[in-house]
Amino acid sequence: MKIGFVGLGIMGSRMAENLLADGHELIVFNRSVDKADSLLENGAKLATGLEDLGKQADVIFTMLSTPAVVKSTAEEFLPYMKEDAWWVDCSTVNPSFSRQMAVLAAKYNLRFVDAPVAGSKAPAEKGELLFLAGGSENALSELQPFFDAMGKKTLYLNNVGNGANVKMLINLLLAQSLATFSEAMKLGLSMGLAEKQLLQILSSTPVVSPVVGLLKERLLNKDFEVNFPLKWIQKDIGLALQTADEFNLSMPSLATTQSLYQEALNNGYGDVDFSAIYANMIA
Ligand code: NAP
Repeated sequence: MKIGFVGLGIMGSRMAENLLADGHELIVFNRSVDKADSLLENGAKLATGLEDLGKQADVIFTMLSTPAVVKSTAEEFLPYMKEDAWWVDCSTVNPSFSRQMAVLAAKYNLRFVDAPVAGSKAPAEKGELLFLAGGSENALSELQPFFDAMGKKTLYLNNVGNGANVKMLINLLLAQSLATFSEAMKLGLSMGLAEKQLLQILSSTPVVSPVVGLLKERLLNKDFEVNFPLKWIQKDIGLALQTADEFNLSMPSLATTQSLYQEALNNGYGDVDFSAIYANMIA
C-alpha cells in the first residue's frame, strides 16, 4: 500500500519518519515544503500537490492543526482518491466534525476513520503513541501495520467519532490539571514556600495528576521548549466546549480554564509548550 501523509509539523514529521523507517512507501505533502526535507532524504517522495497525493495514495494520514484546516485540505485530495482508499485523520478535532468527515469521504466511496493520538513529541519520535481509533479492530485490520509503526498500542473504539471523543476528554483534563496545579503553586509561593520543594512534595501526592510529575523539572527550570503548543491546547478546550454545547451541557470549570489559557496566549505563550501556563499563572 502506498501511504500519503499530510501535515509535517511537530507530530506529523515524526510519525511519517517512523512509517518510512518501518519500510513503507511514503508520499508526503506539507504547506511549508521545507519540513519534508529530512523525509525526502530518507526516501519519501514529495507530492506535487494534494491532487497528486490523492491520486497516488492508497491510504492518506492527516496530522493537521484545526478542523477548518483538515476540511479545506481534505477537500483538495478526496475527489482524486481511488475508490475504497482510506483517509485516516490523526488531528485532534471535535467528534461531530469527524462524523461529518466520514460522510464526506463516503460521498467519494472512500473509507474514513478518526485516529487521534495520545502522546506528544517524544512518543511520536520513538513510535510510542497511543492510537484512539474510531472503528473496530476487524474493520481497521488493514491499517494496523501503520498504527504499529507509529504507536505502541491502538484502542479500538468501534464507532466513528469515538477516537475524537476520548482524545478531547484527555486534553480537557490535561489543560485543567496544569491550570489547577499552577493556581495551587501560586498560592503556595505567595505563602513563602520554596518552589523546588513544593513542586517535589505536591507532585509526589496522589492528589496531583501524574503529568505534573513528568513535567516538574521543566516547570522548575522554566523550560517551555515546545512539545505541544499552547495555542493547540486552547483550540482543544474550545472544541470540548463546543461539543458540550451540542449536548446542552455547561462546563463552568472548563470555561474558566479557557480564560486562563487565553490570558497566556495574550501574553505571547501561544507557540511555546502548553506547560507555560504555569509561568503565566505564577507570575
Ligand atoms: P504543528 O507543529 O503546529 O503542525 C501543524 C500542521 O498543520 C503543520 O503541518 C502545518 O503546516 C499545518 N497547517 C496549519 N495551518 C495550515 C493551513 N492553514 N493550511 C495548511 N496546513 C496548515 O502542530 P502539531 O503539534 O504537530 O499538532 C498537529 C495536530 O496534532 C493538532 O491537531 C494537535 O492538536 C494534535 N496533537 C498534538 C500533539 C503534540 O503534543 N504536539 C499531541 C497529540 C495531538 P505548516 O508546517 O506549513 O505550518
